[in-house]
Amino acid sequence: MSALNLLGNSDAVSFWEAENGDYQPNQPFAGDADVDVAIIGAGYTGLSIAREFKKDNPGANLIVLEGQYVGFGASGRNGGFNMSLFGLEPEVTIFRWGKQRTKEAHDYMARAVSYVHQLVKDNDLKSDYEHNGMLRIAYTPAQIKRLGAMSEMLSGLDDTGQRYQFLQQDQLGDQFGTEVFQAAIFEPDSGILNPIKHVRELKRLAEDEGAKIYENSPVLNVDRSADKIILKTQNGTIKCKKLVIAVNAWASQIKGIAKIRSRQTPVWTSQVVTQIIPEETWAKIGWADRASIEDNRQMVHYLRRTKCGRITIGGGNVAIPNSRAMGNMDTAKIFSALENRLRWMFPDLKDIGFDYRWGGPVSVNLDMTPEIGFIGDERVIYASGCIGHGVSLTQLNGRLIADLLLDKKTELSEFWVVNRKAIPWPIDPIGFACINAIKSGLNLWDRIEEKSLPKGM
Ligand SMILES: Cc1cc2nc3c(=O)[nH]c(=O)nc-3n(C[C@H](O)[C@H](O)[C@H](O)COP(=O)(O)OP(=O)(O)OC[C@H]3O[C@@H](n4cnc5c(N)ncnc54)[C@H](O)[C@@H]3O)c2cc1C
Repeated sequence: MSALNLLGNSDAVSFWEAENGDYQPNQPFAGDADVDVAIIGAGYTGLSIAREFKKDNPGANLIVLEGQYVGFGASGRNGGFNMSLFGLEPEVTIFRWGKQRTKEAHDYMARAVSYVHQLVKDNDLKSDYEHNGMLRIAYTPAQIKRLGAMSEMLSGLDDTGQRYQFLQQDQLGDQFGTEVFQAAIFEPDSGILNPIKHVRELKRLAEDEGAKIYENSPVLNVDRSADKIILKTQNGTIKCKKLVIAVNAWASQIKGIAKIRSRQTPVWTSQVVTQIIPEETWAKIGWADRASIEDNRQMVHYLRRTKCGRITIGGGNVAIPNSRAMGNMDTAKIFSALENRLRWMFPDLKDIGFDYRWGGPVSVNLDMTPEIGFIGDERVIYASGCIGHGVSLTQLNGRLIADLLLDKKTELSEFWVVNRKAIPWPIDPIGFACINAIKSGLNLWDRIEEKSLPKGM
């Protein structure tokens, strides 16, 4: 097992990857190099930075070093929601940062959703992209009450008056063959994509701009001194003028930059996918508009249709890895809870089987707010804290970080998450206890709000 084979069990292969498995990774890095910019991590963040930076600066040398293969991390295994949610919840952002910053964050996220949508259109990306909107649903009176308050808050942040619509149960009953959806907020400007296809397309675009991407090339150490930054891989040494650490939930494992350890902690979210659902069952389920769905829980469930006639559902309870180990998560109970939840949502699926179960890490900051910043000095840039809402965020962050690398002062580089004051995570075992306490509190909140649901939901 390589230093980064961190998923550690057979649940590692996502449905997306299993369905699109004929992938040839690039050669590992070997030898010595001296480059302008090195990026560690080839997910949406790393690949977007590479493309944007090289587009503006074609003469510069830029390399991306990926420990496994493109899309091994969250970018190849997520739900594929191109969505505008920032951080954990708008209530949390407003509580921590106030209305003005929450509005700026929501505007950034709206821009991020359009950025991804436009990128797909402009480059004809084969990402199975669909722009059908997203529903945030409530099942119980307590959740409806919070949803109403959230709807008002979101509408207050929206200059267009178009971004959010509140739907009652009868309107949802027209669309879905289920009675459990009691109310929803519909956000039309939102989409879904196939994550593994998309990340491979981002690789292609970055290479088209001239970025050099090496796979199976874990960076084992970073050595920074006043006049140089040196990266070590198994078979090589890279000297770079600037470095971006785009490893998401793996940040606490980067050796040589101690300050990064306290920035975030990894949290594991799980997903399952049904067998192909027969047409006659789809006719009963409805869901013809194909909007993606999240529920209004603290431990949110996210579900969507796939192109090939299945449903994926993810979320619910999370698993907490030790930030030094990351693998071998026991998620059997989480998988079966997801399967039960879906069968409960759609009684016509009561006998449906599930073909794939997998999980992956998201990066969580203590104040549930994404962060981009310089570490130590302006030669090293770091991004973290997607909190499970990073498909759009990380790609626009790529443009933002390219601006930082180019020393450009732009509207994006002025976004307040850049070099924000972050609350440090205590290191393990206190950090581990902290994240488990947060998880227990959020689970309890959901249990209280859902006590009227059937037992086991
Ligand atoms: C199951 C799941 C479902 C999700 N669903 C959604 C969703 O529907 N919508 C949404 O908005 N967000 C979702 N997210 C979050 C979203 O996928 C992430 O925010 C986003 O993909 C993060 O991209 P990234 O490039 O920053 O990190 P990643 O994609 O995690 O990439 C980091 C890369 O760094 C590499 N790496 C780590 N250490 C090293 C090293 N030392 N040397 C070299 N390489 C290294 C890893 O191998 C990895 O490939 C989900 C996440 C998961 C796990």
